[in-house]
Amino acid sequence: LFVALEGGDGAGKSTQARLLARRLESTSYDVLLTREPGATDVGAEIRRLVLAPETGTIHPRTEALLYAADKSEHVETVLRPALARGAVVVTDRYVDSSLAYQGGGRTSHDGLEAMLRWATGDLRPHLTVLLDVAPAEARSAGQDRIEAEGADFHTRVRDHFLALAAADPEHYLVLDARGDREAIAAQVWARVEELLR
Ligand code: C5P
Repeated sequence: LFVALEGGDGAGKSTQARLLARRLESTSYDVLLTREPGATDVGAEIRRLVLAPETGTIHPRTEALLYAADKSEHVETVLRPALARGAVVVTDRYVDSSLAYQGGGRTSHDGLEAMLRWATGDLRPHLTVLLDVAPAEARSAGQDRIEAEGADFHTRVRDHFLALAAADPEHYLVLDARGDREAIAAQVWARVEELLR
């Protein structure tokens, strides 16, 4: 089973990914908890490069390709091997983040979706949990190059995430990220448990 956690910055994805992984472990599942960008050696270099404020402006297409390169390495060296051994894979961000940030946030580019399908060999999650929050209400933790973008950018990102979920409701669970974290975790678990049966 392959589960992705998605949503804007400060929505609580990492917390929910961790709570889900812990719950799965305590139910004796083989679990792989991972994240994008930066879960592989080359991915960590890419993460540093794309997020460092010192990097300055990157052409949108270049940025999309860098995130996609992180993803490609992640899919081939981490995600597919784990899924092949039967592990439940929980990832903090996946393709939807690229579609929302590089497509929705930046000027949307034709071909992004096809490029990402190519980069991932079309590996898709069985379930994407979208933690939805208005940018203004998100916990502002960091100041990386992307988080430093304006409110309009983050609103486009949010809207893009919601549109992806609306277009394929069967594969999404959309939750209000402002809810109590244990209550959110319980809703995520209920859906995952259903999929594991
Ligand atoms: O979730 P995390 O904080 O690790 O994400 C790192 C940064 O990369 C965030 O600022 C996020 O907005 C950005 N990002 C992005 N495009 C992606 C994935 C993450 O702009 N495809």
